[in-house]
Amino acid sequence: YCRLTGHAAPEVFHTNEGHAGFLGLERIAELCDEGLDFDAGLEAVRAGTVFTTHTPVPAGIDRFDRELVAQHFGPDAELPRIDVERILGLGMETYSGGGPNVFNMAVMGLRLAQRANGVSLLHGQVSREMFSGLWPGFDADEVPITSVTNGVHAPTWVAPEVFRLGSRQVGAERTEDAMTVGGSDRWDAVAEIPDGDIWELRRNLREQLVLEVRERLAASWRQRGAGTAELGWIDGVLDPDVLTIGFARRVPSYKRLTLMLRDQDRLMELLLHPERPIQIVVAGKAHPADDGGKRLIQELVKFADDPRVRHRIVFLPDYGMAMAQKLYPGCDVWLNNPLRPLEACGTSGMKAALNGCLNLSVLDGWWDEWFRPDFGWAIPTADGTATDDDRRDDLEAAALYELLEQRVAPRFYERGQGGLPDRWIEMVRQTLTHLGPKVLAGRMVREYVDRLYAPAARAHRALNPDTARESARWKARVRGAWHRVKVDHVEASAAPTSTAELGATLMLRVRVDLGELAPDDVEVQAVSGRVDSEDRITDAASVPLKPTSGPDEEGRWVYEGPLALDRTGPFGYTVRILPSHRLLASPAELGLLAVPSEETGEGAGVLMR
Ligand SMILES: *Cc1c(COP(=O)(O)O)cnc(C)c1O
Repeated sequence: YCRLTGHAAPEVFHTNEGHAGFLGLERIAELCDEGLDFDAGLEAVRAGTVFTTHTPVPAGIDRFDRELVAQHFGPDAELPRIDVERILGLGMETYSGGGPNVFNMAVMGLRLAQRANGVSLLHGQVSREMFSGLWPGFDADEVPITSVTNGVHAPTWVAPEVFRLGSRQVGAERTEDAMTVGGSDRWDAVAEIPDGDIWELRRNLREQLVLEVRERLAASWRQRGAGTAELGWIDGVLDPDVLTIGFARRVPSYKRLTLMLRDQDRLMELLLHPERPIQIVVAGKAHPADDGGKRLIQELVKFADDPRVRHRIVFLPDYGMAMAQKLYPGCDVWLNNPLRPLEACGTSGMKAALNGCLNLSVLDGWWDEWFRPDFGWAIPTADGTATDDDRRDDLEAAALYELLEQRVAPRFYERGQGGLPDRWIEMVRQTLTHLGPKVLAGRMVREYVDRLYAPAARAHRALNPDTARESARWKARVRGAWHRVKVDHVEASAAPTSTAELGATLMLRVRVDLGELAPDDVEVQAVSGRVDSEDRITDAASVPLKPTSGPDEEGRWVYEGPLALDRTGPFGYTVRILPSHRLLASPAELGLLAVPSEETGEGAGVLMR
């Protein structure tokens, strides 16, 4: 786009999921035209590319038949200057568990980018596990995929009424700054807004939603062929004083649009509760090719059509941004019940939060990271414990009903001395002050700039044609020579015993075989940390050891260094060898690693309890 508009020559390219991934190939082809070979071009492109993976749902990742890709990139097709085998090599699932003839766009994205991220803390963790095959030998927590939690554009999503209240109470400039610049100090001003004003705002937004829903519902019924005379009941749909729950989604199956229908009698009781009723606004949109999604919508529509409950639950078709803008502010509670951990981030709950709507959600995506009981509710999940999906849905739906009945509704309807739901209002306030500054797109962009774009720009500038060639040659040499890199022997100067004391230091001495490589090409590390019940090191910390002599007549090098026993409890250490080069962004980048073999034996992984 920058190139098309002549705006500037971009240094960093950010490919969101696989869809934009082929731009990396085009850029390699351009560099090849300028005289680089494929490998050097790949290095130059990787340096300035950031890849963001967006889904832990395998079906959400574009995977094509190898032949189809070969056809489009063959000698007579899109990029005739590039050997099609090299292109195919970027996307093939050449790791254990991968498909044999599959070209995977996310895999290509990761191989074309030196920096990568998921879109929430939890999704980062899930992605590191999901793609760990690309970095064999490394623990998932060392896989070089970080995370930047998504954010939303407050000026788009904050209702004008909310903005006006902020302006009136703390000034327009400060309100605008809070929404755009962010910063928790700017959001602290919400504390100054009186309870009565917050509650009046919430009532006003809810009432507007009720009117909006009635209009949309009438339009939808007319489209279904109903005449005006049959639609009188719509004037009684929803009540501006009833606890209003929103649920609006695209409807891929993991989002579980119909979880709330799991026990329809129970739901009906909640909707029709004599003192503490709830009302639910559901909106959805199925992908035209998604028959499963369409079936879920039909199920919901059927329930919502029932004359016994149709004044308390509505389904709005064709969920889109315009509808979403009206929907989020008017709801008191935003419900989200995906199958954990399949929601990469989720953003609708963030938009709701910016309007003082409380979140009631499974601990997935962003909510797993920022949930606190003083401003929302976590629906307990049975992931990992329930034996099958049906059972899991039963358990989680039951937990949802329980929360709605025992916690959410009582808090909404309880009144304090001034006739206001003081504790509810306090949760609204906490939602705004704690989540407001976090969920902003500005915070997200700042993180991308600091942690990914700026380092990528620096890496891009460091890779002129000469350094790109150097980097490519070095990687090829290291890959070719790695099979000979071995840890020969490890010894510690003080024999570790069960009385090893906190604060003591061990001297490690490690003999390594680097084959054709030299100490400049590698880092030899001592890795230590707490040991879990299966004798695996957790919370590992690594320190580099220093070469002290070598190569001896057998070509071995000796590395040494101190290892501080600075933790209590079961503790273990080992050593490992990694490639090392100033142009690497992560020591795991090449997916190469050498650890002591079983025979190295003594001292290679000592435990102290
Ligand atoms: C925010 C938004 C989404 C994303 O919602 P999540 O389910 O939270 O990911 C989808 N569609 C529209 C129209 C939105 O405004």
